[in-house]
Amino acid sequence: MFFERIVREDVAFADGLPLAKIAVIGAGPSGLATVIALMRRCHCPFEAWIVDAQDAPGAFGDGPAGGALTAEPARDLSVLPDRPDDFARWLKENFLSNGAVAALRGPQDLHVPRSVFRDYVMARFGEALALRRDVRIRTIRGTVRHIGRRNDGVYVGFLDGENAVFDHVFVATGFGIAQREAASWRDAAAVAERLSHEENPAPLTLVGNGPRLAAILLDLRMRGFTGAIHVAAAAGRLPQPHSRGYDGMVFGEPPASRSLRDAFRYIRRECSSAEARRGGQWQTVVDAASDRLSVVWRNLPQAERNHYRRHLLRLHRHFSVRIAGDIHRRLAGEFEAGRTRFVPPHDPKSADGNTVDCREVPAARALAGLLGCDVATLSVDDHGHLLSHDAPLSGLSVVGAVASGLRPGPFTFAETVRQAYRSVLAAPLSRPARVSRG
Ligand SMILES: Cc1cc2nc3c(=O)[nH]c(=O)nc-3n(C[C@H](O)[C@H](O)[C@H](O)COP(=O)(O)OP(=O)(O)OC[C@H]3O[C@@H](n4cnc5c(N)ncnc54)[C@H](O)[C@@H]3O)c2cc1C
Repeated sequence: MFFERIVREDVAFADGLPLAKIAVIGAGPSGLATVIALMRRCHCPFEAWIVDAQDAPGAFGDGPAGGALTAEPARDLSVLPDRPDDFARWLKENFLSNGAVAALRGPQDLHVPRSVFRDYVMARFGEALALRRDVRIRTIRGTVRHIGRRNDGVYVGFLDGENAVFDHVFVATGFGIAQREAASWRDAAAVAERLSHEENPAPLTLVGNGPRLAAILLDLRMRGFTGAIHVAAAAGRLPQPHSRGYDGMVFGEPPASRSLRDAFRYIRRECSSAEARRGGQWQTVVDAASDRLSVVWRNLPQAERNHYRRHLLRLHRHFSVRIAGDIHRRLAGEFEAGRTRFVPPHDPKSADGNTVDCREVPAARALAGLLGCDVATLSVDDHGHLLSHDAPLSGLSVVGAVASGLRPGPFTFAETVRQAYRSVLAAPLSRPARVSRG
């Protein structure tokens, strides 16, 4: 394990006051949102370790990935749930004041480069830390191999054999190590570079159907790759665009049964009738249904939840995670031009060396592997507590994309932020159980 960085060594702790020791595993957007929530809402002194196998906090804004546009508009990207317009305001104050862009379009509608979003998140991170003299943050590069409960807290074991015990662990491992985004960008660039030098190059194949696939494909074209691109997307679907906004839709009577299958049939029907109506949009139906499903979820038997995870989650994610309209149009144009076409889905690992994995599958199985249990026994409650056989695993919360592998959502950044705050408020950290000085 490599201790990379300690932010603030000069922490002023009240004499004799125990220091809560917290781990946030994963330094992606969800991990960062959780640490900001901790600094703003956890009022006891604490030390938090931000642990990531590879990425430094904010790395999603680095390199070409940082040039790709956020999938959501600025209005949905506030890291402060009590100020939903915070990112749009920050953009206006820092980039757009008196500028031509502000005159054309409100900042809340903009999809900005992810490096700009990253700068905003890191700015709010720094501000929250500046207000806490009693907080120490460690960013640590280390691959977590095992998480387990012990009498004195939650045990985290690392790949290199080291371990540490925490009062509370927030798991924000997203798409897991096997599907790290940085690897997709790196591999795509390397394959494109190699094929560009071949005389009769084979097509470059991208596997996936979400924002990552869209961003990488368009980036390859922007950088001048002119070869054939095959897209192996589940059911040959492009990532879906956002709608034009709320259209005041009225829904039909939902099914009386608690079967998920019936619920999804109902949603399909409602989507078709929405599309048939003038001004109607399927996106409104899916969003309303997702809100309703998270309420119904807590009463669903585990067997139904597992059915959702195995058979419906991917479809649900596909229609809930959306990209900017402009990006969708450019992507559709690629297919119309004929240089890019769909091929049947296949496993990227079993393919030739010209295939790049761009999938974004929440790593619920990997989480079960860390806990040494069967994923079919796991669930997440409304407060982000991890449950096994419906009983909370004390000291463990799950936040962000990985949680969406175990319950419907969060699929949007605003939901991730809300979940991070709920998890922090529900974690019993006000009176830490142990005295620990790192
Ligand atoms: C072009 C593009 C635009 C996007 N726009 C948006 C948007 O507008 N809104 C939005 O919400 N999302 C957006 N996303 C997705 C977003 O970047 C995040 O990937 C996603 O939200 C999931 O975040 P996360 O923090 O939960 O997980 P990840 O981003 O997957 O981060 C998880 C981290 O955990 C680490 N990790 C995993 N397992 C371990 C382990 N065992 N030990 C140690 N570390 C581990 C990984 O290295 C990784 O850094 C976009 C993605 C792309 C490609």
